[in-house]
Amino acid sequence: MTANIAELASEFEIRPGQVYLVLNDLGIEHDGVSFEVDNDTLDLVRAGSLEQLESKLIALKPGCTPRDIALALGIGQPEIQKAMISKFRIMKAVGNALTDEEATKIVESYGFEVTFKEAAKPKPKASDAPKKGGAIKRSPVVTIMGHVDHGKTSLLDYIRKANVAAKEAGGITQHIGAYQVELPEGLITFLDTPGHAAFTNMRARGAKVTDIAILVVAADDGIMPQTAEAIQHILAADCPMIVAVNKIDKPSANPDRVLQQLPEHNVIPEAYGGQVITQNVSAHTGEGVPELLELILLQADVMELKADPKGELKGVVIEAKLEKGRGPVATLLIQNGTLKTGDSIVVGNTYGRIKAMTDYRGEKLTEAGPSVPVEILGLNEVPGAGDTLQWFVDEKSAREVADNRVMGDRIKSMTTASRGLTLSKLRQRMQDDGLRVLNLIVKADVQGSVEAVKGMLEKVRNSEVECKIILSGVGSINKADVDLAAASESIIVGFNSKPEGEAKKEAEKRKVEIRTYSIIYELIEDIEAAVKGMLAPKFEEHELGTIEIRVRLSFSKKGLIAGSYVQEGKVTRNAKVRIKRGREVVYEGSVATLKHLKDDVREVTMGMECGITFDNWEDFQEGDIVEAYELVQVNE
Ligand code: GDP
Repeated sequence: MTANIAELASEFEIRPGQVYLVLNDLGIEHDGVSFEVDNDTLDLVRAGSLEQLESKLIALKPGCTPRDIALALGIGQPEIQKAMISKFRIMKAVGNALTDEEATKIVESYGFEVTFKEAAKPKPKASDAPKKGGAIKRSPVVTIMGHVDHGKTSLLDYIRKANVAAKEAGGITQHIGAYQVELPEGLITFLDTPGHAAFTNMRARGAKVTDIAILVVAADDGIMPQTAEAIQHILAADCPMIVAVNKIDKPSANPDRVLQQLPEHNVIPEAYGGQVITQNVSAHTGEGVPELLELILLQADVMELKADPKGELKGVVIEAKLEKGRGPVATLLIQNGTLKTGDSIVVGNTYGRIKAMTDYRGEKLTEAGPSVPVEILGLNEVPGAGDTLQWFVDEKSAREVADNRVMGDRIKSMTTASRGLTLSKLRQRMQDDGLRVLNLIVKADVQGSVEAVKGMLEKVRNSEVECKIILSGVGSINKADVDLAAASESIIVGFNSKPEGEAKKEAEKRKVEIRTYSIIYELIEDIEAAVKGMLAPKFEEHELGTIEIRVRLSFSKKGLIAGSYVQEGKVTRNAKVRIKRGREVVYEGSVATLKHLKDDVREVTMGMECGITFDNWEDFQEGDIVEAYELVQVNE
């Protein structure tokens, strides 16, 4: 009988965590969620669960993960993760091991006690796991690199036509980014020329895909900048290289010159006593191409390339895209083991069951072994080139792992770029996300101030939100404070404490708000106001222009209008004004109406006349000077 934790939990009306614990004690690998159980085991589950349920004792194995705790407590992984970050500043992905101390803190915060027990060794599921065979010879995976127009595509095309298309009635029907050619001496897998950066990126991500690199150099052109670049990438990857000197059919071809140039780039051809094999070819006439293929196979023999078709499944994404009507489509190169249709896999952060698998000819396959490139359908999303794949017992386990990776990535991105909570956005976030806790990091000049500020801040709360001080300390605000603030969505408050230069830059980058104060009441008032959603906006004056009042115009209905002239800048209908008579300020307020000739206008600029009325004020005189400005909010 196959069951999973959720099913058993509901059968026994207990929390999933209890089932998991008992199973763990029985030495059954939970491995995601599914496992096989017999009736005796079910009885044990029942007995064990009920006993443990009463004691409120949670048994965990040393080095358990947040996921184990979530399962044990029967609560969601995101919830645990949130609690870990906000309460304890523990930043770990759900699959990462916690220290016993960390695990204890987390479990206890949910009102449970914890005991650490080494779980019995999980029994391997003989039926599920791929059986081990022996490593056998596999075909080489080859990438062609070189300068643009030196004939990479032509060479690939020639090889393909001569060795693939001729055998297939329909020729090549699919472009999957990789294909195999069959020679009497063996198979070769070619990858479409990836571009040098892509070649190195894949390598940097640990995806050692290419066994042999073919450097194509046109015999009439010699080594060009991209040839030199390709050489650097190949040497850096420590990948064996064969130089194909192409276009030898051309009258202007000078293959010897290419050989002479190579040593300047640290490539010593065999002809010069070095190790690097070279071959003259023509992608047009096909001359030298069979020899080149032979050399590839010889090189592969020397390298003793091996893989185990029955071993652990390993593979890498060559390319992937989203196709209309087909969903995510990925070309995988199998590196070890055998991939079968119906298999559940995780690829990078994506997962799925393989619905269909085709080869480079578009032919359906049911399985693919080492060095075989296949296009697969069935992933939930598009993986990235260079992502590696892993096999799972079932889709559920695959999904769990993929979800955890996504979560892990999210945590990582939280620590590099936070959404940036600011005090003025606090209210919005409370409404949008139901934010209930305002996390604060407090830094002050002396311990006494730290305590005073902490004491007062801890009292700031209302029915909706409370302040939580996740870190406090003496000294200036440093980068570590900002890192923590970004990860925990905290606001940093400094009392007589300023950010260090590096911290300031980091805070700007990660949108962490740092507020500094030298008067304790202002600090408390701001936080109180923010919690109440009443943080007073801070404004700065931005000067608009200077206007001279030249005449008092009287209209019986509208009252008095100041006939004015804009000396500098402009005046707008919404402007604030400060009116000066000599040095004295006689009015501070705002423009009520603004007219140019007879029309109401939005603004009047330098050199123009206008008629202005002011809010509740008519005592202006000829010669009064109006300073117009606007207020711009600066704390948003
Ligand atoms: P890539 O940019 O390196 O992929 O180069 P292409 O394969 O597109 O070739 C660039 C040009 O060189 C095309 O016009 C080809 O027809 C030509 N070409 C490629 N190989 C040969 C060759 O062996 N002989 C001659 N004469 N021309 C070639």
